[in-house]
Amino acid sequence: MPRLGGGDWCCLLLGCIFAEAVVQRATCGSCRPLQPGVALIVLRSGSHRSSLRRYALPLLIVAWLGSGCHTASPLLGRDAGARFDRRTDVDLSPNDGDAPCLPTPPQQPLRPLSGELYYEQIGLGGIALGEAAVAVGPNGDALLVDTGNTSHAATVSRRWIALTAAMAPNAPNHHVLLTHYHADHVDALAKIIDGIGARPRLIWRGAVDLSAVKAGTFETMCAAAKRLPHASLCLARAAALDCSATVRSQSCPGLGWGNLDVEGDSGPSYLSLGKARLDIIAVNGTIGSHRFEVDVSPFGTELNDENGRSLVALLRLGDFRLLISGDLTGGGKGTPNVETFLLSHLPSDVVGAVGVDVLHLGHHARETSNNQQWVERMLPADGYSRNAIVGASTGHIGSPYASVLDRVSTAGATPRLGEGRIWTTTVAPLGATHRDLVDARLGSIRIRTTLGGRAYFIQAIGADERVLASETYASVASKLANCPRPSSQRPARCNVSDCQAP
Ligand SMILES: [Zn+2]
Repeated sequence: MPRLGGGDWCCLLLGCIFAEAVVQRATCGSCRPLQPGVALIVLRSGSHRSSLRRYALPLLIVAWLGSGCHTASPLLGRDAGARFDRRTDVDLSPNDGDAPCLPTPPQQPLRPLSGELYYEQIGLGGIALGEAAVAVGPNGDALLVDTGNTSHAATVSRRWIALTAAMAPNAPNHHVLLTHYHADHVDALAKIIDGIGARPRLIWRGAVDLSAVKAGTFETMCAAAKRLPHASLCLARAAALDCSATVRSQSCPGLGWGNLDVEGDSGPSYLSLGKARLDIIAVNGTIGSHRFEVDVSPFGTELNDENGRSLVALLRLGDFRLLISGDLTGGGKGTPNVETFLLSHLPSDVVGAVGVDVLHLGHHARETSNNQQWVERMLPADGYSRNAIVGASTGHIGSPYASVLDRVSTAGATPRLGEGRIWTTTVAPLGATHRDLVDARLGSIRIRTTLGGRAYFIQAIGADERVLASETYASVASKLANCPRPSSQRPARCNVSDCQAP
């Protein structure tokens, strides 16, 4: 056997890379430039450069064409995967008729996509407190959830314009929802209406029950509200908007108005965002015919009594569910325990035993909110992976709270979120850090369903649009629905339908 020199060994290695590239090119569709990097390292370290020259260029070209993919590589030992449609993220590989495989987390910032539900918790800086989020439905209809403070108007408007332009429907049916009437949630309304040049329909409780609201905040917001079509959930359907009113509501009939865009409809109220929808669960301490102020105690005039009136709603597409609750209080620090009250009347067809996939932590993850029962119901510790998100601004000193992070992260000695995490737009001064916390550092938290809601991506995007973290999770209901067989009989690479016992 002839003795091989250094250049021969290098060429042999390049040949292996070439062969691998050919195999990978034939078996997968999503690429990353790994092999050229390896080849370049070989080129730089080779001692017999003259014998390399003849092979290097063609091999590099072939390696580039076939470079990296999700498919298992015996040579480089990467994880097994599947073939994905680059536009829709849908797994195209055959898998014995089971649910498709869980797509690889995207390495680009998420954006709205036709057929899927998108949600973005916007990072808000400066010294003013603020929180805002934008959801975009599968058809391009959009929903602004709270507005942030006046100083945040430009940031929120810019994100709204970018997100609605990404998938502009012919006849957009946009909405803005105000969870409650504190400045960090409503002050930017007028400026945003001007900034986005649109007239979304306003969903709020109406000009009622203002005992814990600052007069100036409400007057400014209400003047802006007059410029919008609106659904005032705690007033009669035809009631005119009177900003000077000091009405005490007796009920919230709007919780039974069915599709809020259909005049005269009835049933549990909701908004359509194409095939996605936002179910309105509670507002003003009212759920169905049950009222906190009647059954437990009247709200007072402190700031947290207004928080207790926050609107609670479930955003969903297919199996995917995300719960928002504004600054709803749960009894912490002596606040009204509306969370526990709502749990006792929560319809099981809205949030069943499986809880939700993503829980927006109330009141910027402060100790007033997210009580033990609430967290256990929304994020049951059953071994499945779920996630929590926090909308905090620089001004929310102390958010997120360590006690809340601990409660969400663990149930006794076991992890509550499975492989899920807690994603925050920022850690405010004096806010806690935690091993499960992902900090977008004043960027944004972006979520988009895939496979029609059977799974979802979640990302932390820095203020410079860099992807700081990107993960994929199966929606819990999808896992449950797709588990007719024990895990031992399922394809190992398919974890949307992973049936492993929790
Ligand atoms: Zn707030």
